[in-house]
Amino acid sequence: MNIDELRPQAIRLRTATRTLEIEWQDGSFSVWEHALLRQRCRCAECQAQQRKGCTPAAVPDIALIEVAAYGQNALRFTFSDGHARGIFPFEYLHQLPELQAPAANGAASVRASS
Ligand SMILES: [Zn+2]
Repeated sequence: MNIDELRPQAIRLRTATRTLEIEWQDGSFSVWEHALLRQRCRCAECQAQQRKGCTPAAVPDIALIEVAAYGQNALRFTFSDGHARGIFPFEYLHQLPELQAPAANGAASVRASS
């Protein structure tokens, strides 16, 4: 895939619904709950935990409080628990399954979030 198509066209951090929305250059659209992104953190510390089979405990109150560009091809997220080491490459985000799909995007299905 052309790397340019993996760039976000728009990034919306929603605090009310605790979701992050990204509109991609290729026209696709992604929505994730903040808690999911926290669980899928790719920093060395969290990846070591994931390898051991223990995903970071789901923290229901977790919120993503800041999104910053990191280099040309990644975002850096800061979470309300103070965790700010996760670098999320666009390529990773683009293939990361959504927990929630926007109703406006009729074709999308909503996955169970249990
Ligand atoms: Zn982490």
